Amino acid sequence: MKNISILGSTGSIGVSTLKVVDAFSGEFRVIGLSAHSNIDLLIKQCIKYKPKIVTIVDETHYQTLKNALPHEIEVCAGTGGLNEVAAHPDNDLTIAAIVGSAGLYPTIEAIECGIDIGLANKEILVMAGSIITKLAKKNNVSLLPVDSEHNALFQCLNGEDKKSVRRLMLTASGGPFLNLPAEDFNKITVAQALEHPKWSMGKKISIDSATMMNKGLEVIEAHWLFSVPVDDISVIVHPESIIHSMVEFVDGSYLAQMNVPDMVFPIQHVLFHPERRQSPLFREIDFCSVGSLNFQKPDINKFPCLELAYEAVRIGHTMPAVLNAANEETVMLFLNDAIKFVDIPCIISGVMDQHKILLNPNIEELKQADVWARQAVNEHYTKMV
Ligand code: NAD
Ligand code: MG
Repeated sequence: MKNISILGSTGSIGVSTLKVVDAFSGEFRVIGLSAHSNIDLLIKQCIKYKPKIVTIVDETHYQTLKNALPHEIEVCAGTGGLNEVAAHPDNDLTIAAIVGSAGLYPTIEAIECGIDIGLANKEILVMAGSIITKLAKKNNVSLLPVDSEHNALFQCLNGEDKKSVRRLMLTASGGPFLNLPAEDFNKITVAQALEHPKWSMGKKISIDSATMMNKGLEVIEAHWLFSVPVDDISVIVHPESIIHSMVEFVDGSYLAQMNVPDMVFPIQHVLFHPERRQSPLFREIDFCSVGSLNFQKPDINKFPCLELAYEAVRIGHTMPAVLNAANEETVMLFLNDAIKFVDIPCIISGVMDQHKILLNPNIEELKQADVWARQAVNEHYTKMV
């Protein structure tokens, strides 16, 4: 039996993780759960999985949560509670499925306690990849990629010598606006941007997929997970989302990983790693009805966020943290209908231009860069209105 905790259990990845747990009865014990504010779902999950510990970040819900649960469950609140869940001594694996930089400290806490991480929360590697990967190495912790592309690469790279890798090729669905002409980008609404053609996901990553910032963040994530230089990581649009990524080897061979586009597959791979298990969730790819697999170059003019991410990681130091925070903040403004879709890359680029880079930042300095970038976004916004 493997003991797991889930940071962000009420989100899209959290719920899919519990779906895998349900499919393999008796294989997993849920030790801890956490949510930001979705109290109703969190209570339901606690009653079903009877974790040892649970936390709600929004403290106004603490009493409701406490009253709804049996005494045996330890109930925490606030960000401190996240650390308790992440680093519970019974955990074998903590699934980092919070969205955004809010997942940084609890994930560090788990790593420092030697607990393996199932990593969905890509923003924390974008923000602090150098520190997180060093810390994981020092504590002998595995960072197991949940993100479908990285899980695909992880599978393709299994047992391969790093020297034989020529290039990592991340596939991208292209999002909802792949075929929208550039002149219509000005009219994109929030509802249209949330309508992803292939994946059902949380709001922030859905917008990131629509701008293709998601793929940019994933380039940075792959750079840190697999220690491959960014210039050896490319992005290719593959609208069918059957191939989840590929590795190009020096001898001219390519390995690609495929499955039906559903996050339960990479999650199951991580939960059982290093074993491969027969799955009750198995779904066949009907290749004949898929018919053909298509590929194209990403259009940088329509999706400048992808290029901004490359630029940020090439500069390094505090810049990726600034990119990430500016993106989180502009996406929030867009979701609140305060700015247009096309304003997202313009504001992020403006904030990156203004940023005074700090070399070799520690975690606190990265956090300060994050706070600075959020303020800078809001200053840009104030000037716009
Ligand atoms: P989501 O919005 O559906 O869920 C986020 C979860 O985090 C929720 O449980 C929420 O309560 C919690 N949360 C939000 N803000 C928080 C905060 N400030 N403090 C503590 N908890 C907070 O998001 P998601 O789609 O599940 O994505 C989670 C992460 O996984 C993201 O980093 C995303 O990029 C990554 N990811 C998601 C998918 C997917 O298919 N959804 C695929 C690959 C990677
Ligand atoms: Mg992905």
